[in-house]
Amino acid sequence: MKEKKKSDLSILLEYAGNYKRLTFLGMTLSGIAMVLGMLPYICIWLVARDLIAVAPDWTKATEVGKYGWMAFAFAIAGIVVYFAALMCTHLAAFRTASNIRKQGMKHLMKAPLGFFDSNASGLLRNRLDGGAAETETLLAHNLADIVGSATMFIGMIVLMFVFDWRMGAACLMAAVISVGAMFTMMGGKNAKIMQEYQAAQDYMSKAGTEYVRGIPVVKVFQQTVYSFKAFKEAIEDYSKKAEHYTGDICRGPQAVNLTFTEGAFIFLVPVALIIAPGALRSGDFAGFVTNFAFYAVFSAIVSTALARIMFAASGMMLASTALGRIATIMDAPVLKITDKPIEPKNNSIEFKDVSFTYDGADVPAIDHVSFRVEPGQTVALVGPSGGGKTTAASLIPRFWDVTGGSVLVGGVDVRDTDPHVLMDKIAFVFQNNRLFKASIFDNVRASRPDATREEVKRALSAAQCDDILLKLPQGMDTVIGTEGTYLSGGEQQRVALARAILKDAPIVVLDEATAFADPENEALIQKAFATLTKGRTVIMIAHRLSTVVGADKIIVLDNGHAVEEGTHEELKNKGGMYSRMWADYNQAVKWRISAGEVM
Ligand code: ADP
Ligand code: MG
Repeated sequence: MKEKKKSDLSILLEYAGNYKRLTFLGMTLSGIAMVLGMLPYICIWLVARDLIAVAPDWTKATEVGKYGWMAFAFAIAGIVVYFAALMCTHLAAFRTASNIRKQGMKHLMKAPLGFFDSNASGLLRNRLDGGAAETETLLAHNLADIVGSATMFIGMIVLMFVFDWRMGAACLMAAVISVGAMFTMMGGKNAKIMQEYQAAQDYMSKAGTEYVRGIPVVKVFQQTVYSFKAFKEAIEDYSKKAEHYTGDICRGPQAVNLTFTEGAFIFLVPVALIIAPGALRSGDFAGFVTNFAFYAVFSAIVSTALARIMFAASGMMLASTALGRIATIMDAPVLKITDKPIEPKNNSIEFKDVSFTYDGADVPAIDHVSFRVEPGQTVALVGPSGGGKTTAASLIPRFWDVTGGSVLVGGVDVRDTDPHVLMDKIAFVFQNNRLFKASIFDNVRASRPDATREEVKRALSAAQCDDILLKLPQGMDTVIGTEGTYLSGGEQQRVALARAILKDAPIVVLDEATAFADPENEALIQKAFATLTKGRTVIMIAHRLSTVVGADKIIVLDNGHAVEEGTHEELKNKGGMYSRMWADYNQAVKWRISAGEVM
């Protein structure tokens, strides 16, 4: 566990960059501040010695005032230096957090687009932002306090030998017992139990989020809260682990810890009583009383030191989980960009023995798939849900990079082209092609920022969006999602098509949406498709087989395998998967028509 802490810290200091020095300066100053803070106790000892030496004729104690002022000066100096220390560490902490954010963003910029499909961007931002903020406590306070507490311990040991080691040892003994109790709670096999307890807490909060997300489903299906078994079990598991950890494991040690932290003098008084007779006999009873006065006052700072260690330990743990969250971002895959980009020769697409497995998946989503699309051809990918159609399509614009084989555009491996050139060549409309909260004009123009208003308007017309523009209060300039201007799924799809049409790219990748099958929209979407795909190389994922009948080639993907390939006519009567899909499709159409007749 110690090793892990160390590496966490070095990771954090790596992010600090040049501000590492400022952190070290702050830590050093914190140590100095602690020494300054201990000097007044020595002044108190000097005052006590002076007073006791002249007792009971107090007027003879001439140096007392001087020592008093010195104590005051040291105390003030200690506070000032501690402030300076915190200024250094805070500055370093803020810079480090901002470095973490910057590096995280920079790294995310290089991640393949597909990464953002599997990881919601809001979640990523939260992780990065929250993680960076949580490292601040460690850097700004805990590190300085750790140095301070260490200095204090060394100081305590030194002072123990300087005055009276027996009474010093008595004070230290209480501290040692407290620390020992603290470590029993956190060390050894209890460390594992504590980790389990924290993991249960994490899991509970995750399950809670899932639960809140699922509320609509619960309402719609009239389920009780017990249908969310995972959440209920997570709470119960957490409560069991929390009770075990806090009750069975921490109760005893924590009681000991608090007792000896607050009662550091508990051994001092008995020890003083034991050595008092000896001091009387030796004749230096004044010295004994002086030392006792010193340790009685001094024992008070022991609890401060211990409390700080506690905070530092919890700060370390917080920072450790924060770094874990940041690491998930810094470990995001990176799209490799070639140094010597090759220009694609034409607009063909070829899959050469392509395999692709998602991170963390056991089975490949695409398994040794090969096919070729000549320039200007339209190829349809069909097959059952989960067959790998969307995955195959997303390999073309490098949303992901293949794990085996290669995807070629214009005869060149997509990994050997300049990503900008590749992106310029391909227009894609994906199922989850959400529109952003901006005007329709801006949404469409996003694919070609230099397009004029006239061009955007033409693209919208070509995508059959005229009726949408007519019903919106500010036409093309209406901001989507404000003042009740929401678009239906089919309407959104058409706006996304307008965006692709405006891009005017020679290759089009279409992942048609299934959910928006109202006949009116369907007809309009078909028209928009026709405009978009005319004269281009097209890869189309169609859920309504009516769309694919005219395709130059149909590829049936099932479980990541290309199980059939051919034209509609070739596949229709082959007796394979496609002919079954075709039969099902016709059945569904018949149902729809007869349902229409009944109404
Ligand atoms: P289709 O589009 O044909 O319905 P997909 O390409 O979406 O199929 O999915 C193929 C397989 O890959 C499925 O088993 C699916 O669960 C898995 N899959 C899809 N997207 C992801 C993702 N982002 N992360 C992990 N697995 C995924
Ligand atoms: Mg899909």
